[in-house]
Amino acid sequence: MLKIGLTGGIGSGKTTVARLFREHGVPTIDTDWIAHQLVRPGQPALEALIDEFGPGILTPAGALDRARLRAQVFADPGKKARLEAILHPAIFAEMERRLARLQAPYCLIAIPLLVETGARHRVDRVLVVDCPESLQIARLRHREGLDEELIRRIIASQATRQERLAIADEVVTNDRDLTALARQVAELHRFYRRLSAERTDP
Ligand code: ATP
Repeated sequence: MLKIGLTGGIGSGKTTVARLFREHGVPTIDTDWIAHQLVRPGQPALEALIDEFGPGILTPAGALDRARLRAQVFADPGKKARLEAILHPAIFAEMERRLARLQAPYCLIAIPLLVETGARHRVDRVLVVDCPESLQIARLRHREGLDEELIRRIIASQATRQERLAIADEVVTNDRDLTALARQVAELHRFYRRLSAERTDP
C-alpha cells in the first residue's frame, strides 16, 4: 500500500486536509491522536513519563497535564529528548500496527512533526500543507483563542516552511477558502490512485 505522509506547521490545515481525503474514502492514521491515546491513565507510556518527570505532570485526577509537561520540557533540550525517546517509538509502533490492518490502494498518515522526528523513511511520499505564517496565526487565534506570542513561539520551535517544502513530494497550498482546498485534494486523490495502480500493475 502506498503510504502518504501528511505534514505541515501548526494550524496549517492538516486536520482539514485529512478530513477531505477521508471524504474520498481514503483511510487516514493520525499520529497525534495515537500520541493522545498512548498517555491515557494506566497506559505504560504515561507510567514511563511519570518515572521520568515526576507526578507533578499529572492533574489531581491522575491524567496527563499537558501544560505542565510542556512547561518542563519546552526550554530544556535534554528533557525534550527524553520525552521523545519515550513517546516516539511507542507512537511509530502503534502506527505500524494500524497500517498492517489497512487494506486500500493508498493511505494518509498525518505526522505533524515528520521533519523534526526524521520520519521521512516511514512513508513513500510526503504531502506538505503549506500556508503563510500570518494565516496560521489567524486560524489558531480564531480556533483556540491562542495568544499570538505563544503561537509565534510554537512556530519558531517547529521546522521552517522551507525545511518542510524541501522534502515535499506534493504540496497543498492552503491560503484560500475550503473550496479551493477541496479542489486540490480531489486532484491529489486522483493522482495517488493512479500512482498506487501503477505500483501494483506496472
Ligand atoms: P494543528 O497543528 O493545531 O493540529 P492543523 O494543521 O490540523 O492544526 P486545522 O485544524 O485543519 O489545522 O486548521 C486550523 C483551523 O483553521 C481550523 O479551525 C480549520 O477549520 C481552519 N481552516 C483550515 N483551513 C482553512 C481554510 N482554507 N479556510 C478557512 N478555515 C480554515
